[in-house]
Amino acid sequence: MSLATKLAEERRARLGAERLLELKQAELFAANRKLNGHARKLSEEIVETRAEVANVRDENKRVRSDLSAANEKIQIVERRLWHSIETIQDGFAFFDDSDRMIMANPAYLSVFDGLEEVCPGITYPRLLQLMTEEGIIDPGDQTPADWRARMLVRWQSPAPDPVVIRLWNDRFVRLIDRRGNGGDVVSLALDITASVRYETRLKAAQRKAEAANRAKSSFLANMSHEIRTPMNGVVGMAELLAEGALDDEQRLYVETIRNSSEALLVIINDVLDYSKIEAEKLKLHLRAFDLERSIHEVAMLLQPTASAKGVDLLIDYDMFLPTRFIGDPGRLRQVLTNLIGNAVKFTARGHVLVRVVGMAGDCGKTDLRIVVEDTGIGIPPEKIDHIFGEFNQVEDDRNRQFEGTGLGLAITQRLIGLMGGEIWVTSEPDRGSCFGFTVTLPADEPVCYDIPRLPETMRRVLVVDDNSTNTLLLTRQMSVMGITAQSCPTATQALDLAGQADAVVVDQALPDMPGVDMIRNLRSAGTQVPVLLLAQQAAPLAADVAGLGRAAVLQKPVSRRQVFAQLADLSAATAREPPPQSAVSNPATVSPDPAPEAPLDVLLAEDNRTNQLVFSKMVKGLNIDLRYANNGEEAVQAVRKQRPDIVFMDISMPRMDGKEATRHIRAAEQGDRLPIIAVTAHAMQGDKEQILEAGLDDYLTKPIRKPEIKRILAERFPARFRADP
Ligand code: ADP
Repeated sequence: MSLATKLAEERRARLGAERLLELKQAELFAANRKLNGHARKLSEEIVETRAEVANVRDENKRVRSDLSAANEKIQIVERRLWHSIETIQDGFAFFDDSDRMIMANPAYLSVFDGLEEVCPGITYPRLLQLMTEEGIIDPGDQTPADWRARMLVRWQSPAPDPVVIRLWNDRFVRLIDRRGNGGDVVSLALDITASVRYETRLKAAQRKAEAANRAKSSFLANMSHEIRTPMNGVVGMAELLAEGALDDEQRLYVETIRNSSEALLVIINDVLDYSKIEAEKLKLHLRAFDLERSIHEVAMLLQPTASAKGVDLLIDYDMFLPTRFIGDPGRLRQVLTNLIGNAVKFTARGHVLVRVVGMAGDCGKTDLRIVVEDTGIGIPPEKIDHIFGEFNQVEDDRNRQFEGTGLGLAITQRLIGLMGGEIWVTSEPDRGSCFGFTVTLPADEPVCYDIPRLPETMRRVLVVDDNSTNTLLLTRQMSVMGITAQSCPTATQALDLAGQADAVVVDQALPDMPGVDMIRNLRSAGTQVPVLLLAQQAAPLAADVAGLGRAAVLQKPVSRRQVFAQLADLSAATAREPPPQSAVSNPATVSPDPAPEAPLDVLLAEDNRTNQLVFSKMVKGLNIDLRYANNGEEAVQAVRKQRPDIVFMDISMPRMDGKEATRHIRAAEQGDRLPIIAVTAHAMQGDKEQILEAGLDDYLTKPIRKPEIKRILAERFPARFRADP
């Protein structure tokens, strides 16, 4: 090989090596650059991680400091709680689910004073054991073992009932234990000695009060008896005196005696009723009665007082309401008498209106609503609640002049409550008051019933009355019956209008002339329209009205039935010729049986001479042979000697009382039962039952009244005596 070839080859090899070197250098450079990039990224990551670590370290530090602050707080709260638990007077302890004491405060441990064993770790059954063994508790009637067994059963129940235990030193502790979800028990021991002693004192005081109340009731019963017996003499004699010939002054004296004794009796009855209600001895006696009639009877009794003041007493009994109900008529009358009586008492002018409405309720019962409205002095709003309290009256100068015990409304409210009803009042001073009550009574008749129908010829009725309330009532009742009712306030106007009417209803007290004179004027003008006169005193007008033809007079307050029945009568009379003479409706005629009879043999057993005399005077003129017995023994002998037709038997008599005498008479009785009527001053509830149980047939309360004796005789001997209507 030539040198040139060798050199060329060498040069080629050198160039090749140089190119390879350049290539390797470029690769090295690129690798170096890549390495630098990685190193930079790594150092950035290291910086980031370092910052994060520093953050976490800070956070840790903060959490640790929060935790220790919270721990401190918990410790403070725990210390305070424990301090409180330690200082409270009542015992407090925790037990775990295996009944071991975890902790207890000093009050809890104090009852175990001196027993070192009693500390956290002791079990509940062991505590019970120590309580009985060391005489810490008084197990009462139970044996210690029974007591422990009972307490353990209670402790183990999921929700133990509170229990009271008595300690040796006569202190009382109520144990209240609560079992938690994990089985732990929190136990509270409350010292209730003070309240137990207070309760004992209260019970003693209650027993004392009840004894005093019983003593009061029996005192009242005795007083009632003691007062009624002499009152029988006073009332009876005054009644008899009033029947005789007296001059005006004597009559005034007698009337005063009579009124005063009646007033005294009302007070005695009020006080008695109240004490009966208070002692829960008052029971209702249910029977069928006529409510509308009862209201009318009460109104009739109060009518003279109302008319003496010129106060109109009106009754608005719902046309479509039944009138017969089952209830206690006596007590309802008492409520009505009190409410209507008060309304009349506290009203000087205007009217007193009794309104009765009702709605059929469940099971044939009727929800009745009875309202007594007056135009009297009213009651100041601040006194309204006060008036239902016992002995409470609206005491001011205006009504201090009125008499009363202040018991009426208290009794009324209780009676209505007893009947299951409610009473309320609304009132405005100087405008009037409105007392209302509800009571639900079963109806004693079908709810739909007939009202007397007026004949077709009586379609237009003229009502003449200056009292707008009365006019409104009458015209409303008429229009319900399909009658066109026109009204006017004066007789003068009525004389013009009467010609167009089929009948006229006129009030006696008209502003321009008495009603009866208006009828006279009508007749002299030749108008023969039937006229019904309504008057507060009907009897004195009866003869006058009778002479006027096709006219009748009704005593106010009138019932809707009376008005319609009377109008129907008048219209029937118009149809017949000649017209019959009219008269007072419902004449009260009592005529003794005309058939001559042998006198009735009556035995009066009564130890009080005055009362014997009163009785004899009361039955004078009744065709009676009266014999006396001065005590029960004499009564038994008198009956044995000669059987009378009837016996009136006083209950309280010396030697042998009326009940025992009756038992003797009944024991020896053969054949017909001898009527024996108790006459007694005992007015307390339960007396009647006892008296009837002893074999007596009926019951009269002193002071006895002539009509009551007549009623009894009429019931027992209807052929000889007739009842007063
Ligand atoms: P009394 O009528 O015996 O005083 P009550 O208990 O019946 O007792 O009534 C208590 C009081 O209520 C009455 O004294 C009277 O002040 C007031 N009062 C009752 N009814 C009315 C009435 N209709 N109008 C005004 N005041 C009345």
